[in-house]
Amino acid sequence: MRVAALIVAAGKGERAGGATPKQFQMLGGKPVLRWSVEALRGVPGGLQSLVIVSNDPERTRAIAPDALIAPGGQTRMESVQAGLAALAGDPPDVVLIHDAARPGLDLLTLDRLLDALTTAPATAPFAPGADSLRRIDPEGRLIDCPPRDALVRVQTPQAFSYAAIVAAYAAWPSGRVAADDLEVAHAFGLPARLVLGSSRLAKITHPEDFAVLESLLAPAPLVPRMGFGVDAHRFGPGDHVTLCGVRIPHDAGLLGHSDADAAWHALTDAILGALGEGDIGDHFPPTDPQWRGVASEVFLQHAGSLVAARGGRIVNVDVTLICERPKIKPHREAMRAETARVLDIPLSAVSVKATTTEEMGFTGRREGIAAQAVASVLCPA
Ligand code: MG
Repeated sequence: MRVAALIVAAGKGERAGGATPKQFQMLGGKPVLRWSVEALRGVPGGLQSLVIVSNDPERTRAIAPDALIAPGGQTRMESVQAGLAALAGDPPDVVLIHDAARPGLDLLTLDRLLDALTTAPATAPFAPGADSLRRIDPEGRLIDCPPRDALVRVQTPQAFSYAAIVAAYAAWPSGRVAADDLEVAHAFGLPARLVLGSSRLAKITHPEDFAVLESLLAPAPLVPRMGFGVDAHRFGPGDHVTLCGVRIPHDAGLLGHSDADAAWHALTDAILGALGEGDIGDHFPPTDPQWRGVASEVFLQHAGSLVAARGGRIVNVDVTLICERPKIKPHREAMRAETARVLDIPLSAVSVKATTTEEMGFTGRREGIAAQAVASVLCPA
């Protein structure tokens, strides 16, 4: 499916205040228009072309250098038609028609729209919300109370089969004003299926809307989380042990299903613990033969990727080995470096240390090695 996007950014935006039209004013560190440009570029499968209808080509080109720029018309409808005409040379299958004044476009909404287009030639997002809708007259007097279930507030981008919306606009009686492109499509008889939009897609109309949008679009605050992990492996035949991914010569090896790296197992559990994601055995069941003999780097890297997938990051980790032998200290810096590499965090964020148990207990009797680890992560609340 060849997808084009058309952003209407030709309005003067007088109600939003300021000498600069609202689509070029700053919001959360970038011009309002740039938010939509960046979001639409992320459309699944990529964007074939982007048209921006604008009466300020200089500012528009600075925001989207590779966009086609079409001059705006007297009305929004004329502007949309100018944008559609700019796509006629290389017509897409589908066009997303979006208002620059709605900067909070997200991938989930784009996904839903493109999915809806597989079953209908027209679609639009509707605003979530539980407010009742009432019909009033211009003086604010209540006319009636239509049932809430069947009424929605419609947002943009509205998406259409390109050929169908071009035909719908061609058939629209000149001089009549449509509230949006969906109305034009509907009048032409195009079936439409609406999908859930987002409260982030609210429109900037008045000066105070900038503050509202700024808080809606601000990244979620990160909150600290802690996790703790413990592991132990028994000595067996062998000539080395692997701890924090470092091969350490020894007069015994460690027994285990994988490479028996107790340090990274404890650390993996600490990170999973910080996320509330169970333990290493949930993610890599020891009964599953595919993990036999596997390097524990795979486990640790998986835990790190879960943090990243949540939009979080690891602040620091601290691993303590508990054993009489081998001596850990000569290998400590290599162990830190390996851990930092696998988790893709700074060396300064990794601590590795060791202790003995004064010859008490199983580690004191040199039956095996134990490890404990803590991890601190920041994740969106
Ligand atoms: Mg283990």
